[in-house]
Amino acid sequence: MKKIAIIGAGPGGLSAGMVLVTKGYEVHVFEKDDRVGGRNQRMDVSGYQFDLGPTFLMYLEILEDVFKEAGENLRDHLELIQLDELYKLRFNDVTFNMNKNKEKNYLMYEEYQKGLGDAYVKWYQAQEKKLKLAAPILKKPFPNYTHFFRKDVLRMAPYVHPLQSVYKNLSKFSKNEAFIHSLSFQAKYLGMASYKAPSLFTILPFLEHDLGLYHVKGGLNQISEQMAKIIQAKGGHLHLNTPVEEILVKDQKAYGLRISNETHLFDEVIINADFAYAMDNLVSQDNLKKYKKEKLAKKKYSVSTFMLYLGLDTILDINHHEIIFSKDYESYLKGLMNDELIDDFSLYVHNPSKTDPSYAKDGHSSLYVLMPVPNVASTIDFENRKDELTQKAIKLLNQTYGIKIEDHIVAKKVITPNDWQKNHNVYLGAVFNLAHNLGQMLNRRPQNKFEEIDHVYLVGGGTHPGSGLPTIYQSALILKNYL
Ligand SMILES: Cc1cc2nc3c(=O)[nH]c(=O)nc-3n(C[C@H](O)[C@H](O)[C@H](O)COP(=O)(O)OP(=O)(O)OC[C@H]3O[C@@H](n4cnc5c(N)ncnc54)[C@H](O)[C@@H]3O)c2cc1C
Repeated sequence: MKKIAIIGAGPGGLSAGMVLVTKGYEVHVFEKDDRVGGRNQRMDVSGYQFDLGPTFLMYLEILEDVFKEAGENLRDHLELIQLDELYKLRFNDVTFNMNKNKEKNYLMYEEYQKGLGDAYVKWYQAQEKKLKLAAPILKKPFPNYTHFFRKDVLRMAPYVHPLQSVYKNLSKFSKNEAFIHSLSFQAKYLGMASYKAPSLFTILPFLEHDLGLYHVKGGLNQISEQMAKIIQAKGGHLHLNTPVEEILVKDQKAYGLRISNETHLFDEVIINADFAYAMDNLVSQDNLKKYKKEKLAKKKYSVSTFMLYLGLDTILDINHHEIIFSKDYESYLKGLMNDELIDDFSLYVHNPSKTDPSYAKDGHSSLYVLMPVPNVASTIDFENRKDELTQKAIKLLNQTYGIKIEDHIVAKKVITPNDWQKNHNVYLGAVFNLAHNLGQMLNRRPQNKFEEIDHVYLVGGGTHPGSGLPTIYQSALILKNYL
């Protein structure tokens, strides 16, 4: 039986573990932390529960496929709650309550400005076609440029407009800024600004509008926790508190891992740890060409996040997901792309206690506040500006919601881009990994069968097909083609 090592128990590593243990391999998952999940782990702050990272779950069928591949039914393991209101988007002059019902969205846009409802319908129809053509492509390996000549890729080409940005594509349907931003802010899921992200990614909001958004009872971290249980129940081995020190390679072939200064032999090695971190730290530079330190440093990376996790002695009457947009959102996005952070920032607010009482005790809540900020390649001193940024975020929450939130904070944790880098092994603290510009997508993104060293495979957000939970789960499904 082949012995397989997986470095990292994040969503990518755990999905791969589930699939491979079911195929009959001897699977060992090595995780440096004391719990599974990686950026998707459960975090406890003085009794208040939080999802460390992901809170938006969409395109459920890929996660269902991972469970099916392991002979399991997703809903036997997780309680899924579909959100009626997708999210509340707070702009300067208008607030959109985006709904899973597209007629309601039509009326909402039409009420705001005549003709916008029709623009929404046209946008919707165009995305339907695009997703139908794009989905099969993202589900397959894309190892080299010859794949651009595959029938499915050529069929999609006229709909993709490769040189157009998400923002530009949206502006074909309406020039209204709030309309454009309400259907393009999702580029941030890739850690990019809408005017930089390739127009293919207009399918992201469509996935939410068409297939819905889900919450998992107990938090999205439960997906990782249940995956780990399944791996163990099927005979896989989970080694927590076990950082891998090196991938051992001879003649460009991996043969094992160095852990606590000891050699452990394996037939195959799967890297789930952040791709750029792994190249920088786990592989000898002698074994690399394309991904040597100096070449990695030249690649483009996503933005980072400044996080506030607040335990409150009250439950705010706000939506499960809310976004407070900057007054001048475009300048904020441009600032982010130029490694600057302006005072007129945006916040994403996650208020899961509205839907799910399991996050905090009766009458209390867990509030998660995310500020997109440049990664640590910028000159911003996040450590010294921690208190200032916290105060500014709290001020914006108070102004927006008409409360004095500091009177209700009973527990607090802050995570800066430097913390992502230092504590979670994320290269430059760029939490959405390698950026998704055309030069770093498809055949130009690190492939799931690693090109540089035999017997090494890659899963997770830094690899093909991309960052974000559905594509991360898909990276594990693509492995089936090789193992
Ligand atoms: C704040 C935030 C919000 C996000 N929101 C969303 C969202 O709403 N929806 C969405 O789809 N995506 C979201 N994402 C993006 C993405 O889904 C998550 O980051 C996801 O957890 C990435 O999964 P992964 O498997 O690629 O890596 P990770 O989750 O980082 O897993 C890698 C694992 O490797 C481990 N590791 C690292 N080095 C070693 C080592 N040397 N030895 C052993 N183990 C090691 C790490 O501890 C970690 O457990 C968000 C990310 C962040 C940070």
